[in-house]
Order: sequence, then C-alpha cells, then structure tokens
Amino acid sequence: MFPILSPYTKAISHLFSGREPTPECHECGAPLDTALHTLVECATWGPQRSQMEKVVGPVRSLENMVKAMLSSKRYWSEVASFCESVMTQKEARKSKQLSIDTKRMRLKFESVPLTEFD
Ligand SMILES: [Zn+2]
Repeated sequence: MFPILSPYTKAISHLFSGREPTPECHECGAPLDTALHTLVECATWGPQRSQMEKVVGPVRSLENMVKAMLSSKRYWSEVASFCESVMTQKEARKSKQLSIDTKRMRLKFESVPLTEFD
C-alpha cells in the first residue's frame, strides 16, 4: 500500500519509470497521475472513495488519509480496502492494455511478408 500513499513527487515519478509509458491518468486523462490524484481527485474512483468516506469521513489530503488510518483499526481497514480496490482495477486495466498491445504487435508482425526476413 506504500506506493499509493507516498506524498513525494519523486517517488511517484519513480513508480512510472519503466512501468507506465506516460505519467497521465489513464482513467480520466489528467496530466499527472499521482497518489493525491488517485486518492482524492480522480472522478473514476469516486464511487469507491465515497464508500470509504462514509466510514472515515471526508478525505481531502494524503495527510488526512494517513491520520484516519492511524486513528482506528476500522478506518485502517476501510482505507486499505479502498486502496486495494483501486490498485487492483488499475493493474487489471494495465494487464488488459498489455494484452491488446501484444495482439496488435502480433497482427502487425504477421502482416509482414516472409520475404522481408530473407
Ligand atoms: Zn484520473
């Protein structure tokens, strides 16, 4: 759960190096997908965020989220559940995109005449 809570831009940027081709949010198109964006701003995760906020109250910053987590086991569990849900869906999207990219590369490769390899 650490990567999603990191407030440091450098750390977040590091997450993208080699893992994501671009830093923007693939869910909503925001120019920079940071932990703050994912946890507090991104409309895509609004339903999950609302569910969490029903239990822990409004979360407007990463600092507030960490404070909530440290204040009770129930809040910790609720925030952890939110983070897990979001990260699972993000990973599923990435995996699906990788599969699509692989299929496109295969089709592109298969369309090259064999004479090109002689
Ligand atoms: Zn977004």
